[in-house]
Amino acid sequence: MKHCVFLLAQGHLPSALSSEIVRIGAEPRALEEGGAIIAYSATVDEAALALLRGTPSVARVLEGPTPHPLAARRSLGTRAVDVSIGPELVRLGGEQPVVIAGPCAVESEAQLEACARAIAALGGRFLRGGAYKPRTSPYAFAGEGERALELLRVVADRHRLAVVTEVLDPRDAERVARFADVLQIGARTMSDFALLRAVAAVGKPVLLKRAPSATLEEWLLSAEHLLHAGARDVVLCERGVRGFDPAARNLLDLAAVPLLRQRTDLPIFVDPSHGTGVRKAVLPMAAAAVAAGADGVLVECHPDAGVARSDGPQALPLAALPRLFGLVQGISALVRPSLDAAAE
Ligand code: PEP
Ligand code: MN
Repeated sequence: MKHCVFLLAQGHLPSALSSEIVRIGAEPRALEEGGAIIAYSATVDEAALALLRGTPSVARVLEGPTPHPLAARRSLGTRAVDVSIGPELVRLGGEQPVVIAGPCAVESEAQLEACARAIAALGGRFLRGGAYKPRTSPYAFAGEGERALELLRVVADRHRLAVVTEVLDPRDAERVARFADVLQIGARTMSDFALLRAVAAVGKPVLLKRAPSATLEEWLLSAEHLLHAGARDVVLCERGVRGFDPAARNLLDLAAVPLLRQRTDLPIFVDPSHGTGVRKAVLPMAAAAVAAGADGVLVECHPDAGVARSDGPQALPLAALPRLFGLVQGISALVRPSLDAAAE
């Protein structure tokens, strides 16, 4: 007997398949927005597996047990995440690629305002910025805390942007959620399970960074922790793993994008800023990330990187943002249809 998940092709369920579903005791696994069941899981023998594989209304059969059933792929498309900006909904993991941009850390209203204005002028909808910064040294600037959260909200609202910011301490989860639209879990805390539970409990979308030495499986298990603890919306973000060469801050693992796609339908983002640590490498790697099939990129920028209080060497100048947005849109339009077709 084997465990499998099968995904239904769109359209109506033929009666022969409905009786097979009853016979093998298949359990509904995922619903479409309208409420129709699109995926089932079941434990089946070889004959039933062959029957499912040969049924035209079954789009795909995924075999084998998974240690992360909630994060595992359960439909053909991406499990898009809708974020509300007032009455509007903006989508991560939808048809359009997304740029999330902003400073490493919120430093002042003028700095944040310059970033937000540049992002909004290009049609961007997401403003990032750290209020609580995880720093390797206890002597480094650790963020402006609640004051930065307030600034993020005020400036984002002025430009109709959604706020993405990190939660570092489980005790801050509710406070950050009062100001932010997407809660980020940073690379250093990917496996802080108490933090994952606290962030899941506040019910806002979560952007989960990969830890610098996490395997894809460990990363998906952290996503599973979030989903298991009640998070409804999770977005993964590759940000580089620890390499051997100090020429780059990290080794950006772009193969993670197509490899994850096979295992999960959660949206996948790439952060080429922390992924390289080198300003000049950010645009090429953002382009490469979208070419690899990423749903979007998360990028750091600064109106005057020379005075940035953290991560200045990787901050894009605001003048580079039009090129970034152009590359992301252009490359996505070029590769998406062919990547989708090739995956089938
Ligand atoms: C960040 O995006 O602000 C950040 C600290 O990144 P990471 O957790 O990937 O180092
Ligand atoms: Mn940073």
